[in-house]
Parts: sequence; C-alpha cells; structure tokens
Amino acid sequence: MIKFLDLHKINQRFEAQFQQALKYAMTSGQYVLGANVSAFEEEFAHYCGTKHCIGVANGLDALTLILKGYIHLGKLKKGDHVLVPSNTFIATILSVLHAGLNPVFVEPNPKTYNLDKHGVKESLSREIKAIIIVHLYGQLADVEGLRNLSRDRDILLIADAAQSHGAQSKLGKSGSLADAAAFSFYPSKNLGALGDGGAVTTNDTHLADVVRLYGNYGSNEKYVNKIIGHNSRLDDIQAAFLSVKLKLLDKDNARRRQIAKRYISEIKNPKIELPYFDGSDNHVFYAFVIEVENRSDFQIYLKANDVGCLIHYPIPPHKQQALKQFSELELSVAEQIHKRVVSLPISPVMKENEVDAVIKVLNAY
Ligand SMILES: *Cc1c(COP(=O)(O)O)cnc(C)c1O
Repeated sequence: MIKFLDLHKINQRFEAQFQQALKYAMTSGQYVLGANVSAFEEEFAHYCGTKHCIGVANGLDALTLILKGYIHLGKLKKGDHVLVPSNTFIATILSVLHAGLNPVFVEPNPKTYNLDKHGVKESLSREIKAIIIVHLYGQLADVEGLRNLSRDRDILLIADAAQSHGAQSKLGKSGSLADAAAFSFYPSKNLGALGDGGAVTTNDTHLADVVRLYGNYGSNEKYVNKIIGHNSRLDDIQAAFLSVKLKLLDKDNARRRQIAKRYISEIKNPKIELPYFDGSDNHVFYAFVIEVENRSDFQIYLKANDVGCLIHYPIPPHKQQALKQFSELELSVAEQIHKRVVSLPISPVMKENEVDAVIKVLNAY
C-alpha cells in the first residue's frame, strides 16, 4: 500500500534531533514562550524575508489575529467585507467570521485554483476592505497582479500561506508577499510540527505588536492586560521541532517538485486532468491534485490498486452546514472543483519505486 502521506516516516528522519531538542526544552524549565519560540520566530522571519514572525497556536488563529489586529489598528472595522476564494479550507472563511467581518466569495481561476486579478477585479466593490489570498495546494496566487490592485484601491492584502511554506516568486518567498501572512504548522503541512502550531509573518511593526498582544492575553507585561486577548501561543517544544525541520524545508520542497514533474510528464491518461505547473519554485506541492469524472469509481480503483489518496476538499465552504447562510450562492466553479479533485501521494520521503507504481496505476486506469 502506498500511503497518501506517511507522517511517521517524514518525522523519523529527525528523531535524534527531536530527542535532543526535547531534553534541552525540559531542562530549560521555561515551557511557555521560552527560548525555542523566540529562536524559531527569528529563523522563520529570516527564512520568509520579513521583519517579524509571531508564533501562535494554529493557522486559524494566525488568520483571525491578523484580522482582529487590523481592526484594532483601525484599518478594518467590524462588518467590513473581506474577499475570499470560494474554494479553500474552511479556516479561511472562519477567520473572517470570528473577527466579525463579512466574507465575500470569489471564484478562482479554474486552471490554477487560485484567485487572480481578473476574477478579483470584477468582484471589487466599495465595501471590500481586504482580500485574503490562499496559495492553494502550495502554488502562489497571482501575487503581482493582486498586490498592484490592492495598492491602487487601498485594500489590505492578506495571505493564507498555510499550504505554501517556502514557495518563491521573483517578488520573494511566501509569507513576505502580502501585508501579512498566516502559516499553519499542522503536522501534514510542508513544515509541520508534531502537534498544532501557527505563525504570522509581516513587515508591519504595528500589526506584529498587536498580534503578539492578542496571542498572549492582551498582555506584554505579566498580569497587565491591555486588550481583550486570546491564549494563542506557539508551543515551545513544537517550536524546537520546527527549527530542526526548517533546515530541510527547501530540500523537501525540491523533492516534492521533482515527484510532481515526474507525474506531469509520465501520467498519460485522457481520463485524468493534470494540474497546471509552470515548473518554477512558485509551487511547493503541498498537494498534487488531479481532476477526474466519476470520482468515486476512481477512488475505488485506487484503493483496489493500493494507492492512497485524499480529497482536498469534498464539500465547498459555502455548502457546509456551518455556513448555511451562504448556501444559496451561485459558485459553480468551486462546486465543480470540489466534485472532481483527487490528491495523489506526494511527500519528501516517497521512494522512486513508489512514484513509478503510482504512475503505472494511473496510466492503467
Ligand atoms: C491547514 C490550513 C489552515 C488552518 O490551519 P490550522 O493550523 O489547522 O488551524 C488554514 N488555511 C488553509 C488553506 C489550510 O490548509
């Protein structure tokens, strides 16, 4: 059986270093906001090319605290409209609702699955005060176009970078491309912890300060609370593990791209639609997503042939019970995508013979 994703195998490579990090963390006696968190924040800011990195508890909080931070700074106000892609993991939408803002769904470019300036331009009304772009499946959205558009209209550009650690364009690395970016270190992400974790990256010192306050009970001085904060901190031990893994991130992403290139050049089956990839480092293949008709038949076929898979995602956000106030929206591009997509195994620890096997099974479908 070729697993969709073997997280144990991914982390096994670091076992000795993790054990050392754990021992060090335990000896330190400072288990919350210790030296490991500040060290990782510095390393990750440097890696992304931003002035600031603030560790938080998870990716959803990273997004929510950015939005609440902008409200606190007066750049957004409760009830403002925020443009979001109609095809994303639900966290993107939830963050907008948790911050007391209104999501406005925009259909993606069906080729890249991402927002681009053309689609966004049509949906920009005067109520829109921010855009959240998602670099979905690991591929950077049309950053240049959207950045120019948002600057011209004085709109905030926020990136949900939870699937794009290390993706790079000529403008820089994911995390440095928008006014602020949110990362998740959920175990399955390209940079994943052994539990939950997240971070905000930005060059905006005011925003960085507010996000840090929000994440720590509204306090930067013990028992002095300045705003109605949250408890959302990156765990110190997870930070230590992330520092270890960050050193291998570029190499791991290069391996993912290498596998993707093989899939794209060697899977030759008219029943399978392959993803768009321009061959550059702007894609880190968090997921390798193909499209098929009759997906359930295809899933049965993969299972029978010992190839694991996953659906990113089976139900679009506006069709979730939790978001039933949006269920009447006409979002046919997102609905089509959610009906057709299948994610194939891809990971830095996949062996060449496993890649061979996946290709063979897909060509024989
Ligand atoms: C994983 C993910 C999140 C949320 O991250 P958590 O750490 O699970 O809260 C947000 N957006 C996208 C696109 C994601 O893939």
